[in-house]
Amino acid sequence: MAQIVLDGVDKVYSGGVKAVDGLDLEIRDGEFMVLVGPSGCGKSTALRMIAGLEDISAGTITIGDRVVNDLAPKDRDIAMVFQNYALYPHMTVAQNLAFGLKLRGMPKEERNRRVQEAAKMLGLEQFLDRKPAALSGGQRQRVAMGRAIVREPKAFLMDEPLSNLDAKLRVSMRASLNQLHDRLRVTTVYVTHDQIEAMTLGDRVCVLRDGRLQQVDTPQRLFDHP
Ligand code: ADP
Ligand code: ADP
Repeated sequence: MAQIVLDGVDKVYSGGVKAVDGLDLEIRDGEFMVLVGPSGCGKSTALRMIAGLEDISAGTITIGDRVVNDLAPKDRDIAMVFQNYALYPHMTVAQNLAFGLKLRGMPKEERNRRVQEAAKMLGLEQFLDRKPAALSGGQRQRVAMGRAIVREPKAFLMDEPLSNLDAKLRVSMRASLNQLHDRLRVTTVYVTHDQIEAMTLGDRVCVLRDGRLQQVDTPQRLFDHP
């Protein structure tokens, strides 16, 4: 069970900006939830609070059955994917995928199994021995996702992971993300300012404005009643 529940969550940055204001949101176990809205509406802040990268000013966040307000990011059993992929340039794709597992002391056999499995899901099998410099932007983004997948986390948190890709790649990566989610059914919170991305990816879409929840519904119902 890895539902994520935000209950009356506020974020006030030092300087007084209220970036998130009384956010109540229930993300169901296995659901793909998209947070969408114009730049500055508080999407990234909300995601970063779920990840534990930003303190919460008020309210509670629950992941699975644990209140995580005071838990460090590494103890939340979540994996985050960013738009700047931050791969290690001196390591091969396989080493990049395995690195986090190695740090956690996972035995080599299990590590290799997970690396192979993720590479297969992401179509990266023939690139395992390459360095990031020898990959296309889309392939690099797949490696970044692979690093999250191999951890087999309770939830994926993604902040505009496709925004650095060109339009054509974005379309094919959207399809890959849909397939991946169908297969893994890991609870996902996905931030984007792109409405088409929101509508094609989300089981449900949460529209934020000025730090507040404006609407949350399925893409179909949001489309019918905007
Ligand atoms: P979005 O992801 O929707 O673009 P953000 O969550 O990044 O929005 O930002 C929400 C608001 O909080 C904006 O007004 C932004 O300027 C402000 N903000 C974001 N990060 C900080 C920070 N570290 N310090 C102060 N204000 C911030
Ligand atoms: P070592 O663990 O001895 O440092 P390498 O540097 O060759 O081994 O690789 C680092 C990690 O990358 C390995 O622990 C392994 O999990 C993973 N790895 C390397 N090549 C492959 C491969 N072809 N298939 C799956 N995993 C691989």
